[in-house]
Amino acid sequence: MLNIIICGAPGCGKGTQSNLIVEKYSLDHLSTGDLLRKEIEQKTKLGVIAESFISKGSFVPDEMIIDMLIQSVDNQSDKSNGIILDGFPRTVAQAEALEDLLGKRNKKTTILIDLLVDNKELINRLLKRGETSGRSDDNLETIKKRLQIYQEKTTPVSDFYKNLNKYAAIDGIGTVNEIFSRISAVIDLNR
Ligand code: AMP
Repeated sequence: MLNIIICGAPGCGKGTQSNLIVEKYSLDHLSTGDLLRKEIEQKTKLGVIAESFISKGSFVPDEMIIDMLIQSVDNQSDKSNGIILDGFPRTVAQAEALEDLLGKRNKKTTILIDLLVDNKELINRLLKRGETSGRSDDNLETIKKRLQIYQEKTTPVSDFYKNLNKYAAIDGIGTVNEIFSRISAVIDLNR
């Protein structure tokens, strides 16, 4: 069973790489960003609240995210070889909640893959994505805020997994296939 976390600043390519990992290793893909955008589209109560945070570049409160994630983990299909968590955990409180919920289900995190890309490249990628994504958070002001919040709140998550010896940094610059080869090598080493 593989329980992989893919982490990295906005625009690092974690969505693209998650799709490739899902295909190669037959995992369920749990993207908290995608789940939230679905809630927003369906105009649910959670969606309306989430949108007010997302459009400002802020994080959605931990409790809401953790509740949403628990439901998704429990709805996981029996046929998959595990899960890839994309965009979660983003805070140490979320990491603690994840380890607790996996532990209670006799599961554990395999590895956290941290996709490293410098801020200049991230801003370029996100501005380009903003031309077509229609996302309320892909504009320069919100991008800068997201990068700052990422630095403040998500960098400690890397330290949390370093302390558990479950951390791998990957160079996120290169072609999609080059980066995927680097990630596959790490997964194969840790599975
Ligand atoms: P993403 O698609 O992963 O870039 O997520 C888009 C936005 O959704 C983020 O900028 C946050 O506002 C919100 N979001 C997604 N995942 C989380 C999370 N784990 N914790 C808090 N907010 C989140």
